[in-house]
Amino acid sequence: MRLKDKTALITGSAQGIGKAIAKLFLSEGAKLFLCDLDAGLLETTAKELDPSGGRVAVSAGNVVKKEDAEAAVEKAVKTFGRVDILINNAGITKDNLLMRMSDEEWDAVLNVNLKGAFNFARACARPMMKQRWGRIINIASVVGQFGNAGQANYAASKGGLIAMTKAIAKELATRNVLCNAVAPGFIRTRMTENLPEEIKKFYLTAIPMGRFGEAEEIAKVCLFLASDDISYVTGQVIGVNGGFYM
Ligand code: NAP
Repeated sequence: MRLKDKTALITGSAQGIGKAIAKLFLSEGAKLFLCDLDAGLLETTAKELDPSGGRVAVSAGNVVKKEDAEAAVEKAVKTFGRVDILINNAGITKDNLLMRMSDEEWDAVLNVNLKGAFNFARACARPMMKQRWGRIINIASVVGQFGNAGQANYAASKGGLIAMTKAIAKELATRNVLCNAVAPGFIRTRMTENLPEEIKKFYLTAIPMGRFGEAEEIAKVCLFLASDDISYVTGQVIGVNGGFYM
């Protein structure tokens, strides 16, 4: 039980990577506070993960809205007494070539992926600093490390998230609040399932391990970064990409 007595708040956790993190953290003893857009799906996920109730609470809201982030963190502290771990996982893509990318596509992706993470990190900073223990884990992307054609908005948001990770790490280090990023490669979730077959084929040849990753493989790295085992690790980016980017 590596997360016994710990409470974790996970954004975008009704499905995909966020849900896989929630499932693993629950099995390691954590209490969970799940946040996502769709209230119905969030309830279904919470019931599936915690059928008898008491260990998973939810808050439906939009990470882009400061008031939703603050209300979620407040409710998490009220419900479980503390927030030890924040996983900034909510994320979207709106791909387009640079010359065709609209202001709306740019703003939407930057807002959810970067401002959303900022909103939750800011709201969690005070309780974590007060308790002199915290873990902030930002789910970035390999695209934020080496770019990708057609994803200027997504690459900028994830590159920004990596830079923000390092700034937060420096700011909160003396209070034992550690901030790290995980940069997944190509992971099999709803976000990637509809990519054209030829793109998938290209990735399979470019990934040294010759396969796509699973959400559970991201969750295991998050568990390590959320645990006491990383007592001297902050401001780092861990790639989980099958060797795609080194
Ligand atoms: P996913 O299956 O689409 O799940 C993302 C979740 O975030 C969805 O439940 C979505 O809700 C929620 N969300 C979106 N906008 C939100 C908002 N404004 N406020 C609150 N919640 C919001 O995607 P995933 O593949 O698990 O991705 C999780 C994270 O990993 C993202 O940050 C993504 O960028 C990152 N990542 C994924 C991959 C990959 O290959 N899958 C690779 C690198 C990085 P709705 O469905 O209701 O919109």
